[in-house]
Amino acid sequence: MSAAAQTLTPSAEARSFLDREHRLLIGGEWVKPARPEQIEVIDPATEARLATVAGAGAEDVDRAVKAARQAFRGEWSRLTSYERTRLIWKLADELEANLPLATELEVLDNGMPKMVAMYSIAKFGGEFLRYYAGWATKIHGETIPVSPAEARNGDSLTYTRREPIGVVGAIIPWNAPLIMAILKLAPALAAGCTVVLKPAEQTPLTALFLGELVRRAGIPPGVVNILPGYGESAGAALAAHPDVDKIAFTGSTEVGKKIILAAAGNLKRVTLELGGKSPMVVFPDADLERVIPGVTRGAFFLQGQNCMAGTRLFVHEQIFDTVVERVAAMANGFRIGQGLRDDVDLGPLISAEQRERVMGYVDAGRNSGATLVCGGEPLPGKGFFMRPTLFSHTTMDMKIAREEIFGPVLCVQSFADSDLQKVADEANRSIYGLSGSVWTRDISVGHRMAAMIDSGQVSINCHAAVDPAIPFGGNKQSGWGREFGREGLEPYLKTKATTVLY
Ligand code: ADP
Repeated sequence: MSAAAQTLTPSAEARSFLDREHRLLIGGEWVKPARPEQIEVIDPATEARLATVAGAGAEDVDRAVKAARQAFRGEWSRLTSYERTRLIWKLADELEANLPLATELEVLDNGMPKMVAMYSIAKFGGEFLRYYAGWATKIHGETIPVSPAEARNGDSLTYTRREPIGVVGAIIPWNAPLIMAILKLAPALAAGCTVVLKPAEQTPLTALFLGELVRRAGIPPGVVNILPGYGESAGAALAAHPDVDKIAFTGSTEVGKKIILAAAGNLKRVTLELGGKSPMVVFPDADLERVIPGVTRGAFFLQGQNCMAGTRLFVHEQIFDTVVERVAAMANGFRIGQGLRDDVDLGPLISAEQRERVMGYVDAGRNSGATLVCGGEPLPGKGFFMRPTLFSHTTMDMKIAREEIFGPVLCVQSFADSDLQKVADEANRSIYGLSGSVWTRDISVGHRMAAMIDSGQVSINCHAAVDPAIPFGGNKQSGWGREFGREGLEPYLKTKATTVLY
């Protein structure tokens, strides 16, 4: 394991994007913020300043919401669902046509390895847009037979219409910035809503680039507005705005609770995709050739800065030592370095502050009596790199096993029980319930455990299977509602029942 020594510099195309003046996208125009707020965007792999971006304040949020409302009532509302399908599809085409630049900007801004960015943008982002492009033409209501008493009044007809909820405020985090933006835009546009999107202050670049693609795709002005800005100012103003109909939020549980309070003012609809502390449960009959890469990547994908990360590994005592040793060997073998390089498995953490937070948890782990098997240190030199860290012999009373760390720290504990419910109870001892996985060759154990794990999604013999069609979201303090799939469209729609008496 080594930090890649040589630093690559941005391509001329990326440099030219980075160096331009970055404004706010409101009503189809790139405009200056009402007050001169600026965000310095830092490359987490080199600590160099990448760009300076205009930051939105409350007045800009208000302007953007007005533009979104006007667009919602205007040309956009008169398009047919078939026309919306074509526009969303066109956005997917634009994204794919600009894949190299989108990938490079994502890697520079977030730090993730190039292969991860390219795969996620092309295979997931493009397909996600196309999946929801297809839904636009399949949104419709029902006709409902009414009770005999009602029918006695004469012939009548009752039907429902599915209408777009209106103006959506989308607030997203920094861990997969471009994909997060697409996850919010695609269902909103398919439903016929308009959007004000606030990317995370750490990673505004690909959202701004997406704004350019939205314009090139011919999506009407004001349908998508993009406002980089800080959470406490722009984010809070959007969450509280009286003319926003729904907030779609992905981020920490702590901020999710603030969103709920802010949204209470006008009772806007809220969906929340929050933190996790997902269990991975390995039974003694499991195929270790699949378990080791599966759980190691499940824990350390995106440097563990991933809400679905499998951060609590429960291993049957018969195979505990072997699994710990092999997971640690694989983690130690990961190549850590600047994501622009081809030969890198793990990039940096997002910021110095984030790495300090994670190192605080490592100290807590050392002091709690858990065994530090590997990692536990930052890498020297520039960039917010950190070695993947594994603690064994953790218990659910320890802070590192209870709290979401959002970094490359895996806790491993053993179980001896053959009583599946007891194993599940231990896996469920968490305030979170987002993801989880079960590893076994026994099909009935797999399905029974999957049913007992209290999470929004559970995988058997893999971890965190995601697909545009698979509902995604959390139980307990991992969130409200589901994204992806048909269910992911619902929060963007409202039902109107209409009765006609002939
Ligand atoms: P993370 O822990 O992943 O940084 P956060 O929950 O802090 O996640 O941030 C996720 C998003 O929420 C970011 O876009 C951030 O700017 C925004 N945000 C932070 N605080 C608030 C707030 N009080 N109101 C609305 N949005 C906020």
